[in-house]
Amino acid sequence: MRTPVAELFQTPYSLSFESAGNARFAVYNPANGAFLADVPDAGAAETSAAIARAYAAFPAWAATPAIERANLLRRVAALMIDRREQLATVMTLEQGKPLSEARGEIAYAASFFTWFAGEAERVYGQLIPASVAGKRLMVLQQPVGVCALITPWNFPTAMLTRKLGAALAAGCTAVCKPAEQTPLSALELEKLFIEAGAPAGIVTVLPASDPRPFADTIFADERVRKISFTGSTEIGKLLIRRSADSVKRISVELGGNAPFIVFDDSNLDAAVSGAIASKFRNAGQTCVCANRIFVQRGIYQRFAQTFSARVAQLRVGDGMQDGNEIGPLIDDPAAEKVAQHVADATDNGARVLVGGSTLAENKRFWMPTVLADARADMLVAREETFGPVAPLIPFEHETEVIGMANNSSYGLAAYVFTQNISRAWRMAEGLEYGIVGMNDGMPSTAQAPFGGVKQSGIGREGGPQGIAEYLNVKYVSWGVE
Ligand code: NAP
Repeated sequence: MRTPVAELFQTPYSLSFESAGNARFAVYNPANGAFLADVPDAGAAETSAAIARAYAAFPAWAATPAIERANLLRRVAALMIDRREQLATVMTLEQGKPLSEARGEIAYAASFFTWFAGEAERVYGQLIPASVAGKRLMVLQQPVGVCALITPWNFPTAMLTRKLGAALAAGCTAVCKPAEQTPLSALELEKLFIEAGAPAGIVTVLPASDPRPFADTIFADERVRKISFTGSTEIGKLLIRRSADSVKRISVELGGNAPFIVFDDSNLDAAVSGAIASKFRNAGQTCVCANRIFVQRGIYQRFAQTFSARVAQLRVGDGMQDGNEIGPLIDDPAAEKVAQHVADATDNGARVLVGGSTLAENKRFWMPTVLADARADMLVAREETFGPVAPLIPFEHETEVIGMANNSSYGLAAYVFTQNISRAWRMAEGLEYGIVGMNDGMPSTAQAPFGGVKQSGIGREGGPQGIAEYLNVKYVSWGVE
């Protein structure tokens, strides 16, 4: 049963603790500009208070048996699935993605809690054989402490649970700053922690209209021991620089420029479906979405035709309406960036096969667009477009396409479609990327390590690696008589 929209926002949103500040900011629906709700606007004082709460909660939470920490995560995951319809509705309203995708994101987000609940119970130590008789060498893994988690607007729930699941499973406590455009999903998640009986202070969500007071406070405060950030490479670099002064641990999941490579010997239908899934999910606003589609000459015409026919059928419109598959872009600058990329491509010889413009009545809705005869030197191939635009770039040989694919300062996700096993191996090994989807357009899953190389980031989320980001390794050397 879908909750009527008006009922969703009847209770005013508040911080989970008493605070003197009464500043608030408004959240709007990107599909139509409608006001949705206002939320507390956390500044330096609120951030400091939340850190103090997280710091006070840390010793008891770290000492809580892993099975109990795991059980809290499982309870919240179950609540998320139980409230999926309501949570998905909030997400679609504030972020714009189609409701079916929002439902998918809630399930995906909950899966991080389930996965990390299991990992909490598998944080093992180690005994190392010593080189002398009177010694025993032991390794402990301990939670790093208070963590500051900063997340973007494109996956408002999953980007948070991917960090928070790992942090809480490890025994850390967290202060969380969601993106200004999508704080409601994070606040809804925080409510579920309270409902599930989470100890006060282990999770605090701090919406903010200006991220800088939050950032200044977490960097200045010695009690914050770890920062985890997902967002743009530009801000990621800034945070890495800032972490130097207090030598805080930092993980950053940043931008991408994913190559999607289709060889002559691929299964055409699988390649087309993979490209659609990878390119058009969330209207192309995902860090792993195909940004450059390289198609080998022998299959180029057939791929362009079949792909364009499928793309032309994608329905554009408000994500709240059933059947719509492409929602609005998050804001006007995002839509302008797409316009600039398409104009640059067509001015330089690319041909529009499908789309190429916005809906006449609302310029935030970009029609899914396919550009033929694009080239690697065009803006659309050099930069992350973050919109529903698929540039097709023809190529001749495997060595040529590996070179083109790796010719990027980013290295997050890459995709390859081929049925030649040896080629698949060569490509998997040769691509300078943290994730390779081999005949798979949707590789992200909670139990696998997600993250990039080069300027796409430092660290991994999900998988067994994800929890390691929140653990300190301590070596204890014992003299034994
Ligand atoms: P963004 O502008 O970097 O913002 C991300 C988060 O950082 C937001 O919460 C933002 O707050 C905050 N922020 C901005 N300036 C800050 C500062 N000076 N100090 C501390 N925090 C600051 O990125 P975005 O435009 O929201 O997200 C899109 C980008 O994220 C794309 O490049 C995409 O590829 C990347 N992304 C990467 C992954 C991954 O896993 N690698 C996943 C999803 C997205 P405000 O909202 O208040 O500005």
